[in-house]
Amino acid sequence: MRALILEAIGEPLRARELPLPEPGPGQVRIAVRACGVCRTDLHVRDGDLPDPALPLVLGHQIVGEVDALGPGVEGLAVGDRVGVPWLGRACGRCRACLRGRENLCPDARFTGYQLPGGYAEATVADAAACLPLPEGDPIELAPLLCAGVIGWRALTLAGESERLGIYGFGQAAHLLTQVARWQGREVFAFTRPADRRTQAFARELGCAWVGGSDERPPVELDAAILFAPAGELVPRALAAVAPGGTVVCAEIHMSDIPSFPYELLWQERVLRSVANLTWADAQAFLALAPRVPVRARVRAVPLEHAEEALRELAAGSVEGALVLQVG
Ligand SMILES: [Zn+2]
Ligand SMILES: [Zn+2]
Repeated sequence: MRALILEAIGEPLRARELPLPEPGPGQVRIAVRACGVCRTDLHVRDGDLPDPALPLVLGHQIVGEVDALGPGVEGLAVGDRVGVPWLGRACGRCRACLRGRENLCPDARFTGYQLPGGYAEATVADAAACLPLPEGDPIELAPLLCAGVIGWRALTLAGESERLGIYGFGQAAHLLTQVARWQGREVFAFTRPADRRTQAFARELGCAWVGGSDERPPVELDAAILFAPAGELVPRALAAVAPGGTVVCAEIHMSDIPSFPYELLWQERVLRSVANLTWADAQAFLALAPRVPVRARVRAVPLEHAEEALRELAAGSVEGALVLQVG
């Protein structure tokens, strides 16, 4: 099978011909149809996340069909269409797992980082990590598996909010805005200053206000979600939310947060992060998405062009989501 391999941190991906992987106990092999390209893939490639399982196939928004079952797999059959997200394995026995917070399992393993990913014609995944998918084009479904699901978790952790701020208007934001608007919330979008193209995109999706991340919104917000990996936005977001409001940091990696006066946190403002996803988040969001309906703005890129897609994402010039088309 063809696969794009990360052989060493910081290096470009290389196209390789590999033997078809065999599913182990409790695993399935998946013929990949599409795999989303995520900012986290860049963080893995650049060494921002420790100890990736090199040589590695990146990619954790996998849509495909089960084409072989390992020993002991129940509930899945050859031909089933499944999605595999970032959370690829959790122990199922620790305190976090037993409370339904497998996103915090200390033994959790992640797809396209510690487990093989989807920048390939086939991959293997634990049957437990294979999610049922709604109908639709694999290219359009792929971004729902990370940007969508983690955005959904961030939204649920932001609490009740009529006025929701979103800092960083990329993949997750464009999906989440559709959900938030459908729920009747007003969305305030913050982009890079003077990024007119992204601002026009946010307006098109029905945001009530659009501005630069250096601007103050016209009204106090009830909550804000940060999808931008920039720590200096945290005090700005705290300053933009009303007393009792929540600021959720949704990025897996963020630059240092500068010190800020206690006054910004005072009055019961809450600052929190969101880590990964739970199986329940994924199931809830994938069931909700067709009802909204959430439509991912996507551009399909051939698997062989994964390296160019990563570079484009790093340059910040992508509107919506890039998805690798396989086969
Ligand atoms: Zn991701
Ligand atoms: Zn666990």
